[in-house]
Amino acid sequence: MFKNKRSLADLVSAFETKNTDTTSGNDDWKKFFHFYKAAVDTTSTVRFLPDLDEDNPRGFVVENLYHELNINGRKERVACLRMHGEDCPACKASEQFYDEKSPNHNPAKGKAMYRKKSYIAQAVVLETTIQMRDDAPLVFLLDFGPQIYNKMIADMKSGDLENNPVEFQGGHNFRIRKSLNGTENSYATSSFSPKPTDLPADMIDQIVDQMYDLKNYRAKRVDAAVMETMVNAALNSMGGPAPQNVAKPTVQPAVQPEQKTVAQQIGDLGVDSPDVGTDTTVSAAQPAPTPAAPASSGQSARDVIRARAAALRAGRGE
Ligand SMILES: [Zn+2]
Repeated sequence: MFKNKRSLADLVSAFETKNTDTTSGNDDWKKFFHFYKAAVDTTSTVRFLPDLDEDNPRGFVVENLYHELNINGRKERVACLRMHGEDCPACKASEQFYDEKSPNHNPAKGKAMYRKKSYIAQAVVLETTIQMRDDAPLVFLLDFGPQIYNKMIADMKSGDLENNPVEFQGGHNFRIRKSLNGTENSYATSSFSPKPTDLPADMIDQIVDQMYDLKNYRAKRVDAAVMETMVNAALNSMGGPAPQNVAKPTVQPAVQPEQKTVAQQIGDLGVDSPDVGTDTTVSAAQPAPTPAAPASSGQSARDVIRARAAALRAGRGE
């Protein structure tokens, strides 16, 4: 199944096709608040904001399922295709390697191919010890792991919060507390503030202008053929002898001279590896860009949110 039947020309074509789908340059990492870079035992206070996509059932968080494929020393993050309702070559590889009955049984490879999960939200950063850029926006995206997500859910279920935490008026700030658990970073003591507060009324318009449609910031999607190539390249990079009965996970002989350029080509896709640093408890946020939602739909959602905020302020006599 890992045998690559595609010719180099096919691959190049697939890469180039995808390339035209990406925006040139990749400044998306600047849109993310890298809370995990904070010093241990410090707290960053943020105020989560609603998703511009009002059809998002989670309201202000989207799930991001992805694979992180280590290809020639580079970490390439791509969307799990099952997130998009398609067959996913990386998931399929992982399942086969984990299958004890399979002649290809290899848990290390199963783990390397296994899909990861993070969550994407957006927030105003109210307080942090992290040095922020002079041109920092009001609204940042955040990409965090299940630890923070589960704590958010637990706090929302606790009964300690008066209101929906993302309300502009009367919402609840979230305190991202970074600590050490053994040698690993932990965010388990992060929490919503039980005290409801208002975002400054004169900042609301600017905040709404900067808000994002969160689903556009999940891991970059490549098509199944490209992902299969990446899976093969990642298996190749793991080294060691190929397990028996697995077609050698490599490109065909005719492609060998070009082998070193595969990662470069993938890099050209714009799925550059995130700067993960040494943090192992939360995924680093630098997904590749995806085309923005049509301005019209984003605009009307913004108008609705702005109008609702204004009505709320009026109702409160502000
Ligand atoms: Zn997958």
